[in-house]
Amino acid sequence: MKAITILGSTGSIGTQTLDIVTHHPDQFRVVGLAAGSNVTLLAEQIRTFKPEIVALGNETKLAELKDAIASCPHQPQILVGQSGICEVARYGDAESVVTGIVGCAGLLPTIAAIEAGKDIALANKETLIAGAPVVLPLVKKHQVKLLPADSEHSAIFQCLQGVPEGGLRRIILTASGGSFRDLPVEKLSSVTVKDALKHPNWSMGQKITIDSATLMNKGLEVIEAHYLFDLDYDHIDIVIHPQSIIHSLIEVQDTSVLAQLGWPDMRLPLLYALSWPERIYTDWKPLDLVKAGDLTFREPDHDKYPCMQLAYAVGRAGGLMPAVLNAANEQAVALFLNEKIGFLDIPRKIEAVCDRFLSQNTSEPSLDDILAADQWARQAIFDC
Ligand code: NAD
Ligand code: MG
Repeated sequence: MKAITILGSTGSIGTQTLDIVTHHPDQFRVVGLAAGSNVTLLAEQIRTFKPEIVALGNETKLAELKDAIASCPHQPQILVGQSGICEVARYGDAESVVTGIVGCAGLLPTIAAIEAGKDIALANKETLIAGAPVVLPLVKKHQVKLLPADSEHSAIFQCLQGVPEGGLRRIILTASGGSFRDLPVEKLSSVTVKDALKHPNWSMGQKITIDSATLMNKGLEVIEAHYLFDLDYDHIDIVIHPQSIIHSLIEVQDTSVLAQLGWPDMRLPLLYALSWPERIYTDWKPLDLVKAGDLTFREPDHDKYPCMQLAYAVGRAGGLMPAVLNAANEQAVALFLNEKIGFLDIPRKIEAVCDRFLSQNTSEPSLDDILAADQWARQAIFDC
């Protein structure tokens, strides 16, 4: 029985992780839960999973949460705010912490978990992208495991099992192409938030769905792959694969290519991040290649989606640039979701913010440098 804590328990990643717990009560036990402000769902999760400790990001909803669980025989310790979430992350005998908070808000809780010796099931890619210069040394220092739960990186990690050290030569990240993959470029300027939120293959939180539509998600995943697998950017490629059946591939030294396949279902990478190096039996619908049908591939269109090349450039610059890119993207996506800017303003604004910061980049930033760059970029977007 593995004790786990879930950060972002009310989101897409969080609820899918809890679904795994529901189906494997003999394998997993929930120690801690943390969420932003969805009190109704968090209260329901407290009743069902009986965590020892809970944190609510939005302090103003504390009374509402207490009210919602007043009649519940199980009363967990309840904390609030960022410090409360960090406390949940480091709490008790949880072996693994699933990071399902969206955005750089997950950085400090992830660091807290690592410092407390917890293994990380990493869904929250923004944390690694912004914080790698600090997070990776801490992972080493505390000898914890950073296990990818992003589907592409889980695929790469699964393919790497049994590949000898130094055997990896190239990573091929697959991309669905997002909501506008079949829309001509000239139509992109007038797309709406509602259109952008219609992902063809995956049901996910709003932010990552917009990231998928701009292909920034794939750009962020290139940087994530660089940090997770220590491969240079010249050896990380992107290919559009509209069916999302092949979740990514690796090429090894002798040119053999290995792929991981499955239906688009985040529970599989989440389960593997929690069960590695074991495999746990599930009764999920097995992949049927005939039903999956044709698997097709094409080059990504960099003119239509400039975010990918921007991410490569930022990744190569390293230091604080990925933190700036990430924060600018988070802010631009939030502005788009609030209908304050258009879809094509997203890449334009992010690039302008990155250009402005470039001369201030430093190669070995501290945590304070990262947090300051993050704040700077969130503000700078308004003047770009
Ligand atoms: P989501 O919006 O569905 O859920 C986000 C969760 O984080 C919610 O529980 C919310 O309450 C919580 N949260 C948000 N802001 C917070 C804050 N400031 N403090 C505390 N809690 C906060 O998002 P999601 O789609 O589940 O994505 C979560 C992370 O996983 C993202 O980093 C995303 O890139 C990554 N990811 C998601 C998927 C997916 O299928 N959803 C796939 C791969 C990677
Ligand atoms: Mg992914």
